[in-house]
Amino acid sequence: MGFAKRRSTQPTTSSLTYRVISKLRVKNMNRHIDKQEHFEDFNDPCYVVCPKCSGCAVISTVSENEKGWFAPRKLVCTGCTYRDYWEDNAISRLWRRDAKDDYFNLPLWLQVPCGKNVLFAYNKEHLQFLESFVSADIRQRSRDDEAGWSNRSAASRLPDWIKSRKNKNRILKSVKRLWSIADNT
Ligand SMILES: [Zn+2]
Repeated sequence: MGFAKRRSTQPTTSSLTYRVISKLRVKNMNRHIDKQEHFEDFNDPCYVVCPKCSGCAVISTVSENEKGWFAPRKLVCTGCTYRDYWEDNAISRLWRRDAKDDYFNLPLWLQVPCGKNVLFAYNKEHLQFLESFVSADIRQRSRDDEAGWSNRSAASRLPDWIKSRKNKNRILKSVKRLWSIADNT
């Protein structure tokens, strides 16, 4: 029997140090947890440009008891008297990527150019979600109790240019501009 190669079961000092450091780094990193929010979770209310006065109008569900993507919507502008109503069984282009609302096809109030693209948000909650996603060092998915691992979440449906880390700083600048518009509305 030859000599077995001696292998220490104790981690060396350097590997221990490394493990502690990497754990600390992960702990301090900015984390976005994909809670499987869907776009429809963010579009009520939805801020749009009023077709009459070009001010900010709000689209929201008509009834507290009827929520969801296909629930009837009302459009109300407090800057003028413009009102509109939407009720239908279908929304065309469910996964639209342009900066318009799904019901009246009006330009979103919260939109700014971002390089060759347009960054937009339906409301402040949606903007908060985008900021959290883009600024995160770690993007973590969580499992939905009912749907399991799904790619239907708003985070997984984001366009590639928003997911791309090389655009992070540019997008965060646009997010800041959107916040100043939202806070002054
Ligand atoms: Zn108006």
